[in-house]
Amino acid sequence: MQMRRTKIIATLGPATDSRESLASIIKAGANVLRINLSHGSVEEQAGRALRVREVADEVGREVALLADLRGPKIRIDQFINGSVTLDPGDHFFLDASDDPAPGNGNGVGVTYAGLPDDVKPGQMLLFDDGLITMKVLEIQDRKIICEVIAGGELGSRKGLNLQGGGLSIPGIAEHDIVDIKRAAQMGVDFLAVSFPSSAEDMVQARNMLREAGSQAQLVAKIERTEAIQNLDSIIAASDAVLVARGDLGVEIGDAELPGLQKEIIRAALAQNRVVITATQMMQSMIENPIPTRAEVLDVANAVIDGTDAVMLSAETAVGKHPTKVIEAMHRICVGAERHCDTIDEFRRPGAELKRIDEAIAMAAMYMAMHVHVHAIIALTESGSTAQWLSRVRTSVPIFALSPLPESRRRMALYRDVYPVHHVQKWDDIDQAVAQAISNLAAKGYLGAGDRVIITMGDALGKEGGTNTLRLVQVGDGGAAENQNELDLR
Ligand code: PGA
Ligand code: MN
Repeated sequence: MQMRRTKIIATLGPATDSRESLASIIKAGANVLRINLSHGSVEEQAGRALRVREVADEVGREVALLADLRGPKIRIDQFINGSVTLDPGDHFFLDASDDPAPGNGNGVGVTYAGLPDDVKPGQMLLFDDGLITMKVLEIQDRKIICEVIAGGELGSRKGLNLQGGGLSIPGIAEHDIVDIKRAAQMGVDFLAVSFPSSAEDMVQARNMLREAGSQAQLVAKIERTEAIQNLDSIIAASDAVLVARGDLGVEIGDAELPGLQKEIIRAALAQNRVVITATQMMQSMIENPIPTRAEVLDVANAVIDGTDAVMLSAETAVGKHPTKVIEAMHRICVGAERHCDTIDEFRRPGAELKRIDEAIAMAAMYMAMHVHVHAIIALTESGSTAQWLSRVRTSVPIFALSPLPESRRRMALYRDVYPVHHVQKWDDIDQAVAQAISNLAAKGYLGAGDRVIITMGDALGKEGGTNTLRLVQVGDGGAAENQNELDLR
């Protein structure tokens, strides 16, 4: 398979629950598999986590597991008949009292008791990702009386957003506290926090996760107005951010999405964080075997914007062609990568580097931009050096060599990074370099004459210990040859 720099996240669901279909999407190139805790039973979700580990081992790929919390998403309750049809001009109430009657054509309960205190007459409520719109007319005790503006069929348990944001619902819901413990038990590599409104929400989720014994990285889903207002501090409190175009588009208006996608990607990279672009990227492939031209361009543009990863939701979870959609996304990413500026400016001109490993990584990237090199090799324990390196976009692949499976899985999300299993046994740096090069040469990634940059620590097995940078040429038979010539042309 052709090397792809951008990573693909696939959401698991009924369409990928058989071992065959899971093996097939992993072979087709899914790098990270997402368990959406909003769907499926607890047993189904735990089964998915277990199956991913087993099947990835069988197939021999390093794939990461991401659990996505439900978050404080507000939903309506059930309708007696499953759904109701609403016409413009109809009046419809939302009942936030403790024990609302089952829903019908006149109104339905809502899961958030504080809703009547948060909305004002004249505001717009959006249901089912914006398919149905209602205007708030008045608040009567715990009931919100609305007028239907855009009608249609409204089903049980559909989501609800307030246009423009402003809901005071807390970022981590009661059910999330239970789910964080479950995610820790599943051994996930990443935990996505839904609807965070501030850095505090991320800190709280991280503390709960660490308390539950998990070292997973945290992903902030940017999907409410408040998250845009607090973007920089949320990024600082997270390891990665996700451009959650579904809910974000509903809250803030779809016309704002293209600008916000670029802004969030730029802001994440500027803080050396990882960034994912998500939702409806290949939506038509839920049904169809090929994407629309608009979808091709959307995925390609996210790649050109500089995203680390592109994500699939229903396309793989419940779609008819899970493998075809990964193949199509792979093809589009590889095609778009040919048109990215191969050399990117440093996104933090004038930034003061505060860590040695970060300084070494930045020096390596400066070198990669100004000397022709075939690859960058990072000998890394935790994967942090690979994360620093991959924040600067070049066209040079970064081979991240680590003995630790959890580090290799985590690095599966980083753009340009190819995790490789590598056990180090050496007495001096020359030996370490030779071993790293012969490992990659044996796998066919390097050949005689290739010039490579290597970063490593001079103390073996120390986390964050990268303090050494070398520029060497691969000799015959994959041996490292020191660059004795001064001429680099
Ligand atoms: P969801 O998040 O799929 O969990 O809703 C993504 C989004 O809102 O875009
Ligand atoms: Mn969402």
